[in-house]
Amino acid sequence: MSMEDYDFLFKIVLIGNAGVGKTCLVRRFTQGLFPPGQGATIGVDFMIKTVEINGEKVKLQIWDTAGQERFRSITQSYYRSANALILTYDITCEESFRCLPEWLREIEQYASNKVITVLVGNKIDLADRREVSQQRAEEFSEAQDMYYLETSAKESDNVEKLFLDLACRLIREA
Ligand code: GDP
Ligand code: MG
Repeated sequence: MSMEDYDFLFKIVLIGNAGVGKTCLVRRFTQGLFPPGQGATIGVDFMIKTVEINGEKVKLQIWDTAGQERFRSITQSYYRSANALILTYDITCEESFRCLPEWLREIEQYASNKVITVLVGNKIDLADRREVSQQRAEEFSEAQDMYYLETSAKESDNVEKLFLDLACRLIREA
């Protein structure tokens, strides 16, 4: 038996404009928290959560940007060895959706060509302030061959599903 306490280890990296809720998604999934009024930066590079899928222990190393996205200073080292990317926008912020092609160019430039990318529209609890329709996002994700999901870090909607579905896909393609 191996000394490792897991069957699979995957690196998942969150990208997307500042303010879309990346840190809250990671916090919600890894700690079950939605901290009100937290700062933009959590000061750590990554969080770990181990999940069990069909009897296999899957260790997820989840990288958050710790605020670098504000300064457009995310570089190759951040994408290096990522198995999956969670490209996040805010459904109440048109601008965060319009920036997606820029993020895709970064992915193209820096990430592995085998990386799995999931498009996530966050903040669905703010339905009355929606600026990006589901249909638009669906069309965009289909054209880019990305899996697409809407979440609320605040209400814990689809957050577990996001990471577990991703882990399942990573196992299938490992
Ligand atoms: P990041 O810059 O992408 O890491 O975004 P943060 O996680 O720091 O969140 C930015 C702001 O959006 C904070 O004020 C959060 O409280 C808020 N926020 C994040 N996720 C949600 C959500 O699902 N619903 C609502 N209503 N607010 C959210
Ligand atoms: Mg953040």
